[in-house]
Amino acid sequence: MVNTTIKTTKSQEIFSAAQSLMPGGVNSPVRAFKSVGGQPIVFDRVKGAYVWDVDDNQYIDYVGTWGPAICGHANPEVIAALHSALEKGTSFGAPCALENVLAEMVIDAVPSIEMVRFVNSGTEACMAVLRLMRAFTKRDKIIKFEGCYHGHADMFLVKAGSGVATLGLPDSPGVPSSVTKNTLTAPFNDLEAVKVLFEENRDQIAGVILEPVVGNAGFVSPDAGFLEGLREITHEHGALLVFDEVMTGFRISYGGAQEKFGVTPDLTTLGKIIGGGLPVGAYGGRRDIMSMVAPAGPMYQAGTLSGNPLAMTAGIKTLELLQKPGTYDYLEQVTKKLADGLIEVARETGHAACGGNISGMFGMFFTKGPVHNYEDAKASDTAKFGRFHRGMLEHGIYLAPSQFEAGFTSIAHTEEDIERTLQAAREVMSSL
Ligand SMILES: *Cc1c(COP(=O)(O)O)cnc(C)c1O
Repeated sequence: MVNTTIKTTKSQEIFSAAQSLMPGGVNSPVRAFKSVGGQPIVFDRVKGAYVWDVDDNQYIDYVGTWGPAICGHANPEVIAALHSALEKGTSFGAPCALENVLAEMVIDAVPSIEMVRFVNSGTEACMAVLRLMRAFTKRDKIIKFEGCYHGHADMFLVKAGSGVATLGLPDSPGVPSSVTKNTLTAPFNDLEAVKVLFEENRDQIAGVILEPVVGNAGFVSPDAGFLEGLREITHEHGALLVFDEVMTGFRISYGGAQEKFGVTPDLTTLGKIIGGGLPVGAYGGRRDIMSMVAPAGPMYQAGTLSGNPLAMTAGIKTLELLQKPGTYDYLEQVTKKLADGLIEVARETGHAACGGNISGMFGMFFTKGPVHNYEDAKASDTAKFGRFHRGMLEHGIYLAPSQFEAGFTSIAHTEEDIERTLQAAREVMSSL
C-alpha cells in the first residue's frame, strides 16, 4: 500500500534502497510499519512538536523519538549546550565532572536511587540490573509481566510486548531455553498470580521487574494496590522489586512512577529522557545493592562510551528544563485533552475505544475495555488501528506505528496542535 493523498516519492526510494542494506530496511523493528501496513516515512528533520519527511511533508509527532523528546525535538537550549560540549570532545573514557552532575540530579529526583551507574541504552540498563538482582540475592529466577518490555536481552524475551508481539514472534529464535527457564511470567495487575509463583519457587526468586505503567503493550496503568502489593510480596520473600522506568522516568512525573504512586522499589532502570535524545541508560537504587557493582564490588559491568560528555550534557539540560515549575501540569493538561478527545471522537463516530493518559504518556485501544493487562489489550482491533494510523499519517499526524505502543507528548505541543489532531481523528474515524 502506498500513501494516497501525500507525496512520499523520496521516502519510498530511500526505504526501498534501505531494504537491501539493513534487515527490513531499519535498525529497530517497529519503525518498519509492519503492524500498520504501508511504507514508513523517512525523516529529514525534527523541531519542537513537529517532524518533516524527506518529501517535505510536516507532521505533528506523538512518538517523540519514543520518549526522549519531552522538551520538544531539537530543543534550542539542549542543542546550544551540546554545541559547547562538542568543542571539548565527544568521549573521554575517563571520569568527567558532568557525570557527577547528572548522577546528583537523578539521585535527587528518583526516590529509590541512592547510587547510579550510567550505560548507553535501556536494554543495557535492564541486562545489568538483572545481573545485579541475581548477584545480590544469590538467586536465579525472576518474575516479569506479560506485555512488559525490558530491552532485547535474552532472558527478557518472553512475552515481551510491542516489538516482539507485533511481529508475531512469541519468543525469538536464538534465545536458549536454558536462559529463559529462569524467567517466570505473570499477567500484569494480577497479584494472586505473583503470590502463586513465589509459593511454587520458594527462596529461588531474585526479584520482580516491571514497567510500573506499561507502555509496551499499549498504555496500561497499574490498578490501585498493585504496586503496593508487589512491594509487600517481595519484602516477605526476601526478593527485590525493580521498576523499569526507562519509559516512565521523568515522564509521568519528575521522579517517575515511584514518585507518582508513592511506592519505592529497591532498584530502578532509566533511559530515554535522561539522555535528552542521545544514547543513555542508567540503573540505580539502594546503596548496599549498588555497592556490589564493579569496581566497588564484584559484579562486573562496563562500557567504553558510558557517561560520555555529550550524552551527559543532553541529559543534564533536559532535566533542567523539566524542573521548571508547571512542566508536568502542562503535560497533563495537553495530553489529557488529547487522550480524552480521541476516545470521545472514536465513540461519537461509532467505534469501541478505551484508553487514557498519565502526564505526557497516553494510549488508545480500539476495544471497549477496560484494559488491565496484555490479554485485554490484544482484544483491540489492530486492523482498524492500522487504517487509522495510515489515515492520520495522511492528515499530517505521526502516531506510533503499532497499537501496542504508548504515545508521547512534549512541552512543545500546543493546545492548537491537539485540536488539529482531534479534527484529523474525527475525519479519519468517520471514514473507517
Ligand atoms: C525503551 C525501553 C527499554 C529499552 O531501551 P533501549 O534504549 O531501546 O534499549 C527498556 N524498558 C522499557 C520500559 C522501555 O520502554
